Amino acid sequence: MSKLSPIARISIGLALLTISILLAADAIFGFSRARLEAALDVRQKFTESLAIQLSVLLRNNDIDSITTTIQALSKRNDEVVSIALRDARGITNVTVGDHERHWADVSDDKSTPTHVQVTLYNGSRPWGKLEVGFTPLAPSGFLQVLKHPLVRLILFIGVISFVAYLIFLRRTLAHLDPSSVIPARVKQALNVLSEGVVLMDETARIVMANTAFEQRVGAPTNSLLGRKLSDLDWTVPGTSLAAPTLPWSSVLNEGGKQNQVTISLEIDKDSTRTFMVNASPILDDRGNMRGVLSTFDDVTELEKKNQELERMLRLLDASRGEVRRQNEKLQILATRDTLTSCLNRRSFFERLEAEVKNACVDALPLTCVMADIDHFKSINDTYGHAMGDKIIREIADALRMGLRSVDLLGRYGGEEFCIVLPGVDAGKSMEIAERLRSLVAATFSRSRSDLLDRPVTMSFGVSTLDNGTTDPAQLVDQADKALYEAKNSGRNCVRRWGDIQANDVAYG
Ligand code: GH3
Ligand code: MG
Ligand code: MG
Repeated sequence: MSKLSPIARISIGLALLTISILLAADAIFGFSRARLEAALDVRQKFTESLAIQLSVLLRNNDIDSITTTIQALSKRNDEVVSIALRDARGITNVTVGDHERHWADVSDDKSTPTHVQVTLYNGSRPWGKLEVGFTPLAPSGFLQVLKHPLVRLILFIGVISFVAYLIFLRRTLAHLDPSSVIPARVKQALNVLSEGVVLMDETARIVMANTAFEQRVGAPTNSLLGRKLSDLDWTVPGTSLAAPTLPWSSVLNEGGKQNQVTISLEIDKDSTRTFMVNASPILDDRGNMRGVLSTFDDVTELEKKNQELERMLRLLDASRGEVRRQNEKLQILATRDTLTSCLNRRSFFERLEAEVKNACVDALPLTCVMADIDHFKSINDTYGHAMGDKIIREIADALRMGLRSVDLLGRYGGEEFCIVLPGVDAGKSMEIAERLRSLVAATFSRSRSDLLDRPVTMSFGVSTLDNGTTDPAQLVDQADKALYEAKNSGRNCVRRWGDIQANDVAYG
């Protein structure tokens, strides 16, 4: 059935409709029923006229003539199957044909189209009945059915109307058939292209789709004609709309062209094709929109490769990020002290050298501070090494809190820290060191009283670049000496190398 053209299918439908109307008219007006009634009437009249003839012969008791008459009549009439004369006692006197068998099912005195019975008179007295059996009016068997006039009429009307409709529709629809709009040679030329080409009218219905497009979307030849292209399962990558705006719709709605629009089509559950679509308006002589021409470049494979590439790039990015994180970890491990996260001694010196060089080049001040925890050995001895570690860590945190982000904090030795304050001159250096000292002292006097029964303090030694040296090692050494002075001065205090130097000069 699917191989029949739409026109043939419509013609069959119309022919069946015509037959239905015919049957409905027969049911309403009773054409075939009237024919049956007429036939019954003829048989009744035949039997009655025979009965009149036989009544005359009966009066003379001329059985031979009766027999000859009914035999002759039976022969001449093909519809007569059997004839019998039955007297009042029910005994059949004269029979023609296999009457007993034919009459077996008749139980009353009523006539039917196949069994007609008429009363026989001998003179004026009823003598019995004349029974005539006839062939059935309705045919039986396939060939007999075919002979039935109504069946013949239906067949005739069916076949003739189908052929007539087919010819009529072919001629009429040639003007309406969308495919006929495009000349065959244009179609052939477009079929040569490997790119899909679709022509739509102003209602976005397809009037031509070339072979490449039909194959790409898996549609049988010409099956897309008359359909709306937008009714296919299109999706626009990047949008989740149920009815996304498609390029040809944009052209029809807004005019202009649509170039290189990527859209996808779900061919079936497992496969989707991606197309790069261009759409241009088709205008008539007056510039009115008459339709759209769309081209479909199948970029499914390219898109797959792009997606694969993007996936690889994402993986690469992730692994690059991982490498960067690992490098940062390594960098931290290489430059930081594991207990306090302060700069370790080596990286502290590298950074110190760079800061000193910068300060010298830009003629900026710089301060170096050495700080050492007071009596730390006894803390270790009293509370254990683990508690000692904890205090070193908390002191590092306290110092870090008191510093700017540009300052450097290094763990110089066991419980010694070295601090670099770029841009800080001698005048400001004491103030900052003093602030750090009191910060440490305050931290442990307040929050650590639950752990320790004594205060934890630090001594500080300060030196600045303007003390006459530009050597980082010497600067640290000066700060260390100032720290030594602080220790000697009773601890938990700040001493400055510049002041010590001045005293040395003053007291020789
Ligand atoms: P001063 O006030 O003169 O600095 O006295 P001090 O006891 O702090 O000085 P000293 O140099 O005699 O002792 C320093 C102690 O610091 C000795 C050592 O056991 C301890 N120490 C050094 N590094 C660490 C460390 O990483 N953890 C712990 N818990 N203790 C350390
Ligand atoms: Mg110490
Ligand atoms: Mg020490």
